[in-house]
Amino acid sequence: MKPLKSCLPESGGSDTIRMLDLTAIAEGRQSMGVYDDLGVRTIINGAGSLTRLGGTRMEAPVLEAMAEAAASFVRIEDLQARAGEVIAEITGAEAGYVVTGAAAGLSLGMAAILAGLDVAKMDQLPDTTGLRNEVVVQRGHRNAYDHALRTAGIKFVEVGYLAYPGAGGTYGWQIDSAINERTAAVACPIIDTPGTVPLAEVAEIAHARGVPVIVDAAASLPPRANLRKFIAEGADLVAYSGGKAIRGPQASGVLAGRADLIASVALQHQDMDVRMATWRSRDLASKGLVAGIPHQGFGRAMKVGREEIVGLITALRRFAAGSDDADRAMYTARTDAIEAGLGSVAGIALSRSAGNGGVIPHLKITVDESVIGKSAYDILGELLDGDPAIALSETHAEFNIISVNPHGIDDSEVEIIIDRLRTVLGAR
Ligand SMILES: *Cc1c(COP(=O)(O)O)cnc(C)c1O
Repeated sequence: MKPLKSCLPESGGSDTIRMLDLTAIAEGRQSMGVYDDLGVRTIINGAGSLTRLGGTRMEAPVLEAMAEAAASFVRIEDLQARAGEVIAEITGAEAGYVVTGAAAGLSLGMAAILAGLDVAKMDQLPDTTGLRNEVVVQRGHRNAYDHALRTAGIKFVEVGYLAYPGAGGTYGWQIDSAINERTAAVACPIIDTPGTVPLAEVAEIAHARGVPVIVDAAASLPPRANLRKFIAEGADLVAYSGGKAIRGPQASGVLAGRADLIASVALQHQDMDVRMATWRSRDLASKGLVAGIPHQGFGRAMKVGREEIVGLITALRRFAAGSDDADRAMYTARTDAIEAGLGSVAGIALSRSAGNGGVIPHLKITVDESVIGKSAYDILGELLDGDPAIALSETHAEFNIISVNPHGIDDSEVEIIIDRLRTVLGAR
């Protein structure tokens, strides 16, 4: 039998790919008109790496790696194993895994904590009857994304206060006293609510009681030091978005952490349409570590393609090799340019907020509605419905502040944003 690759038509995928200039496409200089063809408007993104707008822009080497990855078949287990080594090296964790996003990483990580290598428990999820299924969390850390943990069938046990002392005042003893024989984990998202117990202390308390800590660090990059910080502080599992600062595929993420938990993630995530005789991980069974093959588990609905795995790893390596200072200079220049372009507009006040440890400085435009005659929401809506459509950040819009996040802005778009903003703000 001929090898699979040579069975493909000679004029197949790889030839088509070679004709496209992916660098030009990534930099917006060449267009295939895919969105025009579908009749869907593109948007200039001054709002940041938001999932609802498409996340981030992948750089040409990432697109090229994905195109090449798509042209060959691999055993996904082999690819994940190698990707995990790269993630481990970059994060300092024992092991790593490529997931479809930080949220998927949290769901899968939670499933791994609940089931371990117990195939019967894997099969039971997300029904957690009879399992340790409580997750302790500080009230000041509750957020809409923690649905990703609840998806695995857990129940939160909340501790701490929402007010004094601090905005999310919690004491270590409150976490400790909430841990009992039903506790599966402590959740500690990286959300800087004043008064919450910091990760290192949470990990110390949890580990003293034999309980793992799972960390949502989806949007906590840059600074790059955060690639290693949370593992170093004792997190057992940490999830990062691949489609935000890392600039990987939108539907990708990094899960880093303990090797035994990552092994459980792999078993519950990969297709597992396998037979024992040829299963890559059959050693687990022969050594008695698993009772059998955990077919099509909890994570099967969150599958990752080889293109995403290769794209994420390419982007992660590039991101890790980059420098916060160089990024800060690039993003600051963009923010400076927009600030300079708006300087003379009446009825606004300009300031900065230091996003991501100062690496991505946002421009804050405080709108004086009595002068402009429009609220921040009016302006945001007008920009989004205008031509070209521009999305700016509505994070502080309830205070009549529009923020411009330079992360997703191309240099060629800076003048367009200034021009549209000036027009909508009534500067001319
Ligand atoms: C973006 C985000 C997520 C979700 O990450 P995905 O990679 O889109 O799945 C989870 N938690 C927080 C705090 C986030 O900002």
